[in-house]
Amino acid sequence: MTAVHTPGVPRVENGELISTNPATGVEAGRLRVSDPAAVRATVDRARVAADWWAGLGFAGRRARLLRWRAVLANRLTELAELAHLEGGKPVADAIVEIASAVEHIDWAARNARRVLGHRRVRSRLVVAEFAAHLEYQPYGVVGVIGPWNYPVLTPVSSAAYALAAGNAVVLKPSEYTPVVGQWLVDTFAEVVPEQPVFSAVHGLGEVGAALCRSGVNKVAFTGSTATAKKVMAACAESLTPVLLEAGGKDAMIVDEDADLDAAAQACVWGALTNAGQTCIGIERAYVVEPVYDAFLGKLVEKAGRLTVGAGDGADIGPITMPAQIAVIRRHITDAVAAGGRAVLGGPDAVQPPFVRPTILVDVPEDAAAVREETFGPTLTVRRVRDADEAVALANAVPYGLGGSVFGRRRAVAVARRLRSGMAAINSTLTFVGMSTLPFGGVGDSGFGRIHGDDGLREFGRAKAVTRRR
Ligand code: NAP
Repeated sequence: MTAVHTPGVPRVENGELISTNPATGVEAGRLRVSDPAAVRATVDRARVAADWWAGLGFAGRRARLLRWRAVLANRLTELAELAHLEGGKPVADAIVEIASAVEHIDWAARNARRVLGHRRVRSRLVVAEFAAHLEYQPYGVVGVIGPWNYPVLTPVSSAAYALAAGNAVVLKPSEYTPVVGQWLVDTFAEVVPEQPVFSAVHGLGEVGAALCRSGVNKVAFTGSTATAKKVMAACAESLTPVLLEAGGKDAMIVDEDADLDAAAQACVWGALTNAGQTCIGIERAYVVEPVYDAFLGKLVEKAGRLTVGAGDGADIGPITMPAQIAVIRRHITDAVAAGGRAVLGGPDAVQPPFVRPTILVDVPEDAAAVREETFGPTLTVRRVRDADEAVALANAVPYGLGGSVFGRRRAVAVARRLRSGMAAINSTLTFVGMSTLPFGGVGDSGFGRIHGDDGLREFGRAKAVTRRR
C-alpha cells in the first residue's frame, strides 16, 4: 500500500529520511540519514575511489560517463516520473530538465581532455633550453550540495563536470528531493561498480554543513544566497575552495522594437515554468512606455491560459517546499498593500500547495516582490521611459544571475550593460541548456562557473610544469 504523509514536509523516522509529494503526501521513498561520522566515512571511501578514477585517464572516464549518459537517456521517462512524484514537477518540465542534464554529461565527457589535458605552453621565457606545459589535475573529492528545484540538472551540472575532470563526488541532495539524487548515484554505480566514485549522503539540515567540514577538497554548492554564505564560512575554516551558484532575481527588458508576441510568450515561459521555482526565472519585467500596454495585454492573456494542478498534464504544478508559499504570499500581499495592482492572480491566487500565475504592476521598487527572490509563479511588470532606465532598475538588486532583452537595434548593447553572469537576447532561459556556455552569477548570485570550458576548469587545479632540456 502507498504510504501518505503530510504533503511535502520531509521528516526523519527511525534514522530514515522520508520524502513525500508536495501535493498528495504520497511517499516517494526513504533514505538512511548520515551522521557526521558517516559523512566523513563516505568521503574517506570516495578519496580511495578518486585515485582509481583519476588513474583511468580521460578516455576511461569518458567511456564510463557516456554509458551513464545512455542510462539517463534510455530511462528518461522513469526519472521524469520520479521527479514528478517526489517534487510535484510536471512531467513535461522534468523531461526538458533531464534532456538538458543528458546533454551536459555528454559534453563534459567528450571535452574534458581538450580543456584539461596536458598541453605545451609557449612563453618568451621558455627559450630553446626550456620547455613548459600546463595541465589541470583533479582536486580529489568534490562535495556537491544541491537544491530541490532542478533535482537532476543541478547535481549533474556540477557532478558530471567534476567526474569528467577526474574527481570523485559526494552528493548531498536537497532533503526535498533525495530520492532523485540517490537515483542518479545508483545508476552511476550500475555503470561504474568498481569503486564508490559517485556517492550520496542524506539528511535534514546538518548534513550539508557536515560535508563542508568533512575534508572534501572542493565544494560545489547550488542553493540560496543565505546558505551559500554559510557554506563559504564553513569552507573558510579549512581553506576549502568553493563554487557558489546562488539565488537570482532576473529581469527582462522589452524595448520598443521588440516582437511583442514573442516577448510575451518567452516571458510566460521564463517566469512561470517550473511554477517559477527557477534560479534564472524572470521575476521582473521592465517595458518601455510605447509598447507597455500592448505587451502587458498579451502577457496577461497568455499567462491566464495556463492550467494549475497536481496532475502530470498541468502547466504549473505545486510549490515543492511548503515554507516557500509563505514567502510568495508575503511578496504578493505586501506589493498590493504598497500600491501595487494584480492584473492576473493576486493574494487569492495562493491556495497551498498551489499558486496561480500572478502578474503585479505599479509595485514600488523597494517592495520585497521587486528586491527579493520570490521563487514562485509571480512577476512584476513596470513601465519605463527607455532602455537606460530599464537597465538601471534591472541592475538595482544585489543579485546578478541572468537576464533577458527583447528588441533589435539596441539589444546587444543593453545585454552587455546588464550586471549579470548571463544574458539572453530575444529569448529567456536559453543559456542554461547550452553546454558550451559558462553558467553562473555575480554579486549575491555567487561566483564560479558551471558548464562549458570554464565549468570543466572549475574542477581541475591548474598545474604549471617547466622542464630544462
Ligand atoms: P537551500 O535552502 O540553500 O538548500 C540548498 C542545499 O544546501 C540543500 O541541500 C541543503 O540541505 C543544504 N544546506 C542547508 N544548510 C546548509 C549549511 N549550513 N551548509 C551546507 N549545506 C547546507 O536552497 P533550496 O531551497 O534547496 O534551493 C532554492 C535556492 O537555490 C534558490 O535560492 C535558487 O535560486 C537557488 N538555485 C540556484 C541555482 C544557480 O545555478 N545559481 C540553481 C538552482 C537553484 P540541508 O538543509 O539538508 O543541509
